[in-house]
Amino acid sequence: MEQTIDAHNSILDLIGKTPLVKLNQITSAMEGEFYAKIEAFNPGHSAKDRIAAFIIEEAERKGLLKKDSTIIETTSGNTGFSLAMVSIVKGYKCILAVSSKSSQDKIDMLRCMGAEVYVCPAHVSADDPRSYYEVAKRLHQETENSIYINQYFNELNIEAHYRTTGPEIWEQTKGQLTHFIACSGTGGTISGTARYLKEMNPEVKVIGVDAYGSVLKKYHETGKIDKNEIYPYRIEGLGKNLIPDATDFKIIDTFLKVTDKDSAHTAREIARTEGIFAGYTSGAVMQAVKQLNEQGEFNKDSKVVVIFPDHGSRYMSKVYSDKWMEAQGFLNEMQSSKQKKAGI
Ligand code: PMP
Repeated sequence: MEQTIDAHNSILDLIGKTPLVKLNQITSAMEGEFYAKIEAFNPGHSAKDRIAAFIIEEAERKGLLKKDSTIIETTSGNTGFSLAMVSIVKGYKCILAVSSKSSQDKIDMLRCMGAEVYVCPAHVSADDPRSYYEVAKRLHQETENSIYINQYFNELNIEAHYRTTGPEIWEQTKGQLTHFIACSGTGGTISGTARYLKEMNPEVKVIGVDAYGSVLKKYHETGKIDKNEIYPYRIEGLGKNLIPDATDFKIIDTFLKVTDKDSAHTAREIARTEGIFAGYTSGAVMQAVKQLNEQGEFNKDSKVVVIFPDHGSRYMSKVYSDKWMEAQGFLNEMQSSKQKKAGI
C-alpha cells in the first residue's frame, strides 16, 4: 500500500500555532516568568497572516469572492505581504495602495508576491483623491468582485485573534498567565486575544503598548483625541493618529508609552541575549516590560505573555543598521567612536 506523503497542502496551512518561548536572559533580573509568542513563525513572518487568511476565508464563506476576485488594501507593511501571500495561493488578484514613504525594498517585496502596487503621494491629506485611502476606495468601487480589507475599521481583525491567538496562548500557558502585553496599532491583536483570555479568566491583566506621537493612550484615559499628542515617530506598526474601530478599548486595562530609541536598543538586546531576531515592535513590547518591572508591576508569581509581532529581517536598513541608528542619534558617543578609534 502506498504511504501518504507527509506534507502540507499549501503554505497557508502553516498560519498560526506559533511557538511560545520562555525568555531567560533579558528578564533575568526581574521577578516572574516571561514568555514571547513568536509570530515570525507564520509563513509570511508576521501576525498579519492570521487576519489576512481569516478575513479572506470569511469573505469566501459569505460567498463574496469568486476565483478571479480582487483583494484591496492600503498598506506596504506586514498586512500587505500577508494579503499578497494568501491571494496568490488562493488565486485572487491583490491590489495594494501604498504611500510614497514606503521603502523600495517593501514595494519590490510586495510585487514579488504578485501584488499590483500603486504608489500614492505621502504629503497629501487623507481625503485628497490622490491619497492611498482614497485610491483604495476608488479602486474598490471600480473593480467588480473586489473586497476592501480596511484593517483599522474591520471587526474581523479582532475576530481573527479571538479565534486563534487567544486560544493558543490559553492552551500554551495552561491558563496560568497573569499578564498579557502587546503593541497596539490597529488594535486587532491585543483586542481579540485579550477578549478571549478575559473570557477564560477576567483577572488576566491586559496592557497595551503605544508610541509617543500617537493618540491611543490618552484616548483610553480621557475618551478624547488630543491633537497635541500627534507628531511623527519612527516605530512602524505601533500607535495611531486616529481611533481605530478594531481596538476594543474596554478590554485593555492600561496603556504604556515607549520611545523610539529605547525600543530600538531593546530590539537589539533581544537578539543579543535571547538569540531571537525580532522586529522593532518586539523591542517596544520588551521595553514596556522593563518599564512595568521598574514600576513594581510583577512579582514571583507573575506569568507574563508578550507578542513578538514580526521578524528582524524586515528592519535590516533600520534598527539593525548602525548607520541608521547613528543618523537617528540613537547610538551614544562611545558606540559611534568605537569604530573610529579602532581606525576602521
Ligand atoms: N507590530 C507590527 C510590526 C505591526 O505591523 C503591527 C500591525 N500594525 C503591530 C505590531 C500591531 O498589531 P495590531 O495592528 O494588531 O494592533
